[in-house]
Amino acid sequence: MAKVLDLNATIEKREDFSEELAIFRVRPDDPLPDGDWFVPGQYMVIGVNNVDEPELGGVQRPMSIASEPAERGHVEFYIRRVGSPESKNPLTHSLFKLQQGDRVFLRPKPKGHFTIPGTVGEDDKRWRILVSAGTGLAPFVSIVRDDWTRNGGSAMDRTCIIHGASRPGDLGYRRELEDLSSEHGLLYLPTVSRPADYPEWDGLHGRAEDRFKADALEVLEERMGIPSGSLGPDQAVVLVCGLQGTIGESLVRLAKRGFVPAEKKIRKKLEIPDELPGSFFFEQYDSDPVIDLENEGLITELRRDLGLI
Ligand SMILES: Cc1cc2nc3c(=O)[nH]c(=O)nc-3n(C[C@H](O)[C@H](O)[C@H](O)COP(=O)(O)OP(=O)(O)OC[C@H]3O[C@@H](n4cnc5c(N)ncnc54)[C@H](O)[C@@H]3O)c2cc1C
Repeated sequence: MAKVLDLNATIEKREDFSEELAIFRVRPDDPLPDGDWFVPGQYMVIGVNNVDEPELGGVQRPMSIASEPAERGHVEFYIRRVGSPESKNPLTHSLFKLQQGDRVFLRPKPKGHFTIPGTVGEDDKRWRILVSAGTGLAPFVSIVRDDWTRNGGSAMDRTCIIHGASRPGDLGYRRELEDLSSEHGLLYLPTVSRPADYPEWDGLHGRAEDRFKADALEVLEERMGIPSGSLGPDQAVVLVCGLQGTIGESLVRLAKRGFVPAEKKIRKKLEIPDELPGSFFFEQYDSDPVIDLENEGLITELRRDLGLI
């Protein structure tokens, strides 16, 4: 029988957006540490025991932290119930059966380098374009919350959050991000990929990565208040979080503007010299290759776009 987890935390609150999308607030039994106990953008590992089929035991998965380090009462996660999981004991299927007061497991130590210090560095003064579809928004919520609490929003007026969802109701954290936008200068660009089904939606249409199509880039530049055609790594860095499609399409489209992938394997394949710094960072939730590194045509195109040939 698979290992049963020793549960050490309680679901304090659950906010559902649909049957497949929810925010979970989890309170560990041990008080959260004082001080900067994690860096915004990091993840924790959450676990559950399978209740319906106890013989399957426990399952653990990484989840980005959406709350900020200053939050002492709970840790917050923004989680999708995966429709077609790959494993026999999918975490999200068990988790979505749990309610407020139910017990879960939380590995105490946050991990990961998809943070501002771990990517561009705190002192970088360029625009931060934070791109996500669905629950990939979580690390960025933590980053902007922390910027507001700790630094009075010092990076807010050069932070752009692009968040894609299939329907307006799936745009988690919308109200909070709209408030940061209207009151503190965050550039918040929610976009809906199935707008025809929601005639009341008068915002942007399409997927998050569609904001980087040639004509949409002009709109982005206008919203950022920079000259048309000028968006590039001199002006901005890009962080993308979520599934392969969002990351891969963004990477290919933004290479045309000179954004250089920071990820080691891709750099090696593209033969990017060490002295050319990364300006495109990502955190991936699934395991499909971000781009097809065996596609020689694509590799040549990317090398040309990046001025390497
Ligand atoms: C560093 C990191 C942070 C993560 N943070 C989050 C988070 O904040 N919120 C979150 O919902 N998930 C997050 N994930 C994904 C999460 O760890 C699990 O992979 C996911 O919940 C599926 O687990 P499962 O056991 O239910 O399904 P499995 O049986 O393990 O099925 C895995 C498959 O589910 C699909 N999948 C994974 N994540 C998603 C998703 N978010 N939306 C749609 N399909 C998906 C992929 O095709 C993946 O290959 C993160 C993953 C990593 C590596």
